Amino acid sequence: MPISLRADAVIAKEMPLLQEKMATLRRSGTVAPRFVVVLVGSAPASEIYVAKKIKTASDLGFKADLVRFSADATVSEVRDAIGVLNRDNSVNGILIQRPLPADFREQEVLLWVTPEKDVDGLHPENQGLLATEEPRFVSCTPMGVMKLLTHYKIPVAGKIAGVVGRSFIVGRPMAQLLLRADATVITMHSRTKDPQSLARQCDILIVAAGKMNLVDASWIKPGATVIDVGIHRNAEGKIVGDVDAVSVAPVADALSPVPGGVGPLTILSLMENCVQAAMRG
Ligand code: NAD
Repeated sequence: MPISLRADAVIAKEMPLLQEKMATLRRSGTVAPRFVVVLVGSAPASEIYVAKKIKTASDLGFKADLVRFSADATVSEVRDAIGVLNRDNSVNGILIQRPLPADFREQEVLLWVTPEKDVDGLHPENQGLLATEEPRFVSCTPMGVMKLLTHYKIPVAGKIAGVVGRSFIVGRPMAQLLLRADATVITMHSRTKDPQSLARQCDILIVAAGKMNLVDASWIKPGATVIDVGIHRNAEGKIVGDVDAVSVAPVADALSPVPGGVGPLTILSLMENCVQAAMRG
């Protein structure tokens, strides 16, 4: 059986460090840092994620607020409200919960949160800084994946790392982070010809395709590390990923579980970005 790359071990180590930073902020007399989540509609999965983000931020000592819009809110209503939050000096970090209703164009929404408060790391300025020596906020899910690799001492430098998916939220920043860590990176996407044979070259495979059980043993190099970013609810109501764990387990040396792998580390990384935003003032 492969090593299970679990989030709880990483959280047990890193959360106290964040708590200590927050305690330092409080001692310095800084006003309570404030983190705001913007939610449009009430998709059940989004409600769960938002509640987790707000609770974790509150537990850390943030003033954490939810700004809620109904699913039929107009694009300009939401954009204007975010403009108000951008100008509010008491707010350090803003996150827009995704997915948004269909009439919100992602390319436009990415520009709404001012880069200095963009704790999700999605504004093009922050995505661009990721390609330089000095990133500001790094997109939370790929940052969580790197935490998993670092914690379990999976060597990255000089390895071939594959990323299945090229979204602005996961795949692209993931490829940048692996490149920064000196991997040779292969990005696969929906138009890639024969992704299985490319994936089989990879020492590390990160799967963020949004397709339940897409990746089976035929994609895996024996001994590879496999990180499953996908989250789905299957027909039996169970949470599963993009990786068919039963098929992959006999071939991989390390595999992240779903749930309990990348998901909680996305929230930990978000909190790290929030603390960083608060420390910058
Ligand atoms: P997306 O739909 O925006 O992007 C999916 C990407 O996968 C696209 O770039 C597409 O080209 C590629 N793809 C689709 N089918 C493919 C195939 N057959 N072969 C190769 N590439 C293929 O999705 P996303 O927002 O990047 O999210 C991906 C998955 O990760 C989803 O399941 C999502 O729920 C999950 N997710 C999890 C977390 C977390 O915290 N764990 C955070 C964000 C997203």
